[in-house]
Amino acid sequence: MGSDLLSDKIKILRFSNYQKKILEPQSFYEEYDNIQVEKKDLKFSIFNYYFAEKKKFVIFNSMTATLLQLPIKYKSFYKTNLLDSNDAYLINILYKYGFLIRKEGNELQKLRVEMLQERFKTDVLTMVIIPTTACNFGCPYCYEGNIASYKMSDSVQDEIYALVKGISKKIAAFQIMWFGGEPLLALDVIEKLSGKLFVFSEKAKLNYSAGIITNGYLLTRSVAEKLKKFCVNSIQITLDGPREIHDKRRFLLNGRGSYDQILSNICSIIDIYPRITIRVNLDRENIDYIENLLNDLKERGLEKHVSIYFASIHVSCANEKIYDRSRALTIEEYFEGREALFSKMKFFLLTQPNYRLFPKLNAKNCSATKSNNFIIGPEGEFYKCFLDIGNQKAVIGDIFNLKKEMIFGIGNKNQNLCYQYMDFDPTQNSICKTCVFLPLCMGRCPKKILEKNSICLTKKMFFKIIKNESQKL
Ligand code: SF4
Ligand code: SF4
Repeated sequence: MGSDLLSDKIKILRFSNYQKKILEPQSFYEEYDNIQVEKKDLKFSIFNYYFAEKKKFVIFNSMTATLLQLPIKYKSFYKTNLLDSNDAYLINILYKYGFLIRKEGNELQKLRVEMLQERFKTDVLTMVIIPTTACNFGCPYCYEGNIASYKMSDSVQDEIYALVKGISKKIAAFQIMWFGGEPLLALDVIEKLSGKLFVFSEKAKLNYSAGIITNGYLLTRSVAEKLKKFCVNSIQITLDGPREIHDKRRFLLNGRGSYDQILSNICSIIDIYPRITIRVNLDRENIDYIENLLNDLKERGLEKHVSIYFASIHVSCANEKIYDRSRALTIEEYFEGREALFSKMKFFLLTQPNYRLFPKLNAKNCSATKSNNFIIGPEGEFYKCFLDIGNQKAVIGDIFNLKKEMIFGIGNKNQNLCYQYMDFDPTQNSICKTCVFLPLCMGRCPKKILEKNSICLTKKMFFKIIKNESQKL
């Protein structure tokens, strides 16, 4: 058994898949008994973040997302004397949870290989399909606000079908996300293409799944029934606050509010779609009113049927003429506001075990970097990043000339940009490669770094979350 003194005082908190688990001392012993390591063979992980807090010394490892609280005296042992310590129990715990690693280990290299393995996997094909860039809303912060309206033609749909057919033998699963504009303005395209792709996937024994991101205004019961028939199994809708706030920001092109129609639609389809994702874009205008939205959802009996996620506004892409950029939150304000909202929405969290503010492991790649992830616009143009939609300079290929190459993620236009996304490597970036939070963050947004808008604000947020979780232990 390990040190009696230490075992009484040590605490371990593990984060995994948005859940956290406090390990009981008994389980430390069981695991300790199974590990055989020699301290001379060990060194500290480069992904340890440590700090002193009241009478505790806290270490967090971002490769394993584990937090360890020790008595304060271990502060002086860290890095200097700990490896000379005779406390085999502690050394084994530190090794078990990744705070200590084998001397020959190279964590940066390991992380890079894992990142690349995931990025260049070719067994799953993911397509975001934009059946139309038209929209019935005039949201001031929309980054697609100035894009011309196009609807996907039959010939583009035929080419998409031919593309999937052509590469079906090389993939095991096929995922679609319908996006816009407002995709429900082109329900006929979704119907036609879904039908063909689904029937083909069945025949080809491909694992097929589809979802839709919609503003929810046209999502009546009869539309929901159709979507279900087209095998669209997940729905995301945006609500930016209670009626008086939402309607100021998410209104129809004629200026009329949309809140009542959206809520009435959601209530009418919960037997067809019992769990709907609600996105809430936070800024200064709405952050203080979100509680009212949550109360309204609860009063309508929706707390068991919605899972809420918060997002910040892509302020650099919002139209300056109609969106006052000073409304945007700083990253710190955003995370603090989000944290405060979590504490007020316990009744929602009960129904959403998967949604918490813990450090998320394996945030290894943004979709723009992956070889088999594409966004297809209505004219058959391909993009890698959502924020590029409608920007002709960021088109990396077109459906009429892009087939076999696609499996490797390389377009037939603007290859430089395509390579830039796919070659984005935070393990080599001068700021990120020395960051203790790299495995959790992986550089956050390739586009921001590629556009040299790369000042890191995320690190501060990680510090806060981890200190906060430690205080709660
Ligand atoms: S963006 Fe910031 S927090 Fe993320 S890995 Fe880079 S330096 Fe670390
Ligand atoms: S590059 Fe940035 S903005 Fe584009 S999809 Fe990735 S994370 Fe999102």
